[in-house]
Amino acid sequence: MSYLILARKYRPQVFNEVYAQDHITKILKNTIEMDRIAQAYLFTGPRGVGKTSMARIFSKSLNCLENGPTTTPCNSCQNCNEITQGNSSDVIEIDGASNTGVDDIRDLQKELMYSPSNSSYKIYIIDEVHMLSKSAFNALLKTLEEPPENVIFIFATTEPNKVLPTIISRCQRFDFKRIPVHSIIKRLEDICEKENIEADKEALFLIAKKADGSMRDAQSLMDQIMAYGKEKILYTDVLSIFGIVPDDVYNDIMMNISAKEPNKIIKLLHKLLEKGNDIQEFLNGLLDYIRNLLMYKVGIEIPVISKSKEKALGKICSKFTENDLLYLLQLLIKTKTDIKNSNNPILIAEMAFVKIAKLAELQSIDKLLNSIEEGIKITETEEPQEPVLKKNKAKEQKNDQTKSNNKDTKKEEVTRSLRSLEELNTDIWEKNKVVLTKKLKKEKTLLGDYFDRCKLVNLSNNILTLKIGKKLGFNLLSKNLSLISDIISKHFDLNIKVNFQLDEKKNDDVIHNPDIEDIKKESPELARFIKETDSIIN
Ligand SMILES: [Zn+2]
Repeated sequence: MSYLILARKYRPQVFNEVYAQDHITKILKNTIEMDRIAQAYLFTGPRGVGKTSMARIFSKSLNCLENGPTTTPCNSCQNCNEITQGNSSDVIEIDGASNTGVDDIRDLQKELMYSPSNSSYKIYIIDEVHMLSKSAFNALLKTLEEPPENVIFIFATTEPNKVLPTIISRCQRFDFKRIPVHSIIKRLEDICEKENIEADKEALFLIAKKADGSMRDAQSLMDQIMAYGKEKILYTDVLSIFGIVPDDVYNDIMMNISAKEPNKIIKLLHKLLEKGNDIQEFLNGLLDYIRNLLMYKVGIEIPVISKSKEKALGKICSKFTENDLLYLLQLLIKTKTDIKNSNNPILIAEMAFVKIAKLAELQSIDKLLNSIEEGIKITETEEPQEPVLKKNKAKEQKNDQTKSNNKDTKKEEVTRSLRSLEELNTDIWEKNKVVLTKKLKKEKTLLGDYFDRCKLVNLSNNILTLKIGKKLGFNLLSKNLSLISDIISKHFDLNIKVNFQLDEKKNDDVIHNPDIEDIKKESPELARFIKETDSIIN
């Protein structure tokens, strides 16, 4: 018997087997139970997360001869079987990628005239619907405006932004999620048990991570490993089959960077290359690793296999600042491009690592840059360095006339004691915010950056409420709430409680995958720093 690939063998056949999409199964089951079936559905999400499987299960639920409509199709009647095999005459699967033309849709329209032969519903599953041509879309739209009775459309797409809004608005839309690492591991464990294969958990963790949110990819990676015919899948097997560099190596590299040991890093690099590891793969792995460090530092959850690994990560994290990590990411991204354009990739990589090992020197450059900048600001502007209160406004105007000798009068203006927060108005808050941002930046650059982006919402009962439109920033600010409250209270010499709110409407973070460009955009300060330090070492 020929080998049946795992993704097909273990394709989910009932709702409960579709992993990590509970938010969708719940609603679909409800619509069946309440008999509120829509005429068109749009399933969106990355590849390999269960869109087509869900469409088939939904179809079986509606057309099952034994129980249908039901939330638990029998999977043994003729209709269920035909849907599983993909040859039901009433559940028609169309690949949008190969049937892109208007003629294909016209054929479909003609066919729609015939009622279902042996089922309750005629269901069209159109995969990769975004690939249809514009004229095909328009023809489809006509059908959707007046669909014949008992006809259901299920569109699946990885790129909903390419589907006409007029189509989307006629569909009930479901957004499928990337499947979390732990869910993929669970499914792989399940498969191993059924296939009678032993696998250590670390091996499955590596596969799940490499699959990057796609269950189908995870299963096809398993197929590749099983082709080696091993009875037990070991962590080391997965490393060598896919040429993955283990995290321990990245740990070592980071430790050597913090210890300023370029020679040791170069030796590690040579060792990897001797073993046959691909240099680009290695850099990708290192980038991913450092990105995880950065996420860990700013308080975003990252997948780790064990508590001990998390501890190791935390230890390495403590040796680097956010600026260091951003700088490393930036340098490695540049190295990757340089390698692509070079006929001596090893030399480029070696140069990059020597550069990276000089990170400690760069930290002092960072300090130097900051102090120079402070100096410029002090001489250039006469920005208030201390709180300026409302009652001094009149004085300030008067002082404008005698600006030349305002050094002493400025001291008079400053009064640290506030009776209550209400004495501040928005204008004055903004002025004080400049000073507070600076103070926070001294603690943590990113913290200051996010604080600067906050909008004042409310000032009452000595509670200061600030709003931010970035989840990333909201998390970081909330994590440092007591530090921020302390600084603000000291600044105004008043016991002030600070409260942060997330502006959901403005939250446009891509939480699962922020890259260096996102982070740079969010933090012009850091972007500037990266640019300047890079031009210094180049
Ligand atoms: Zn059935």
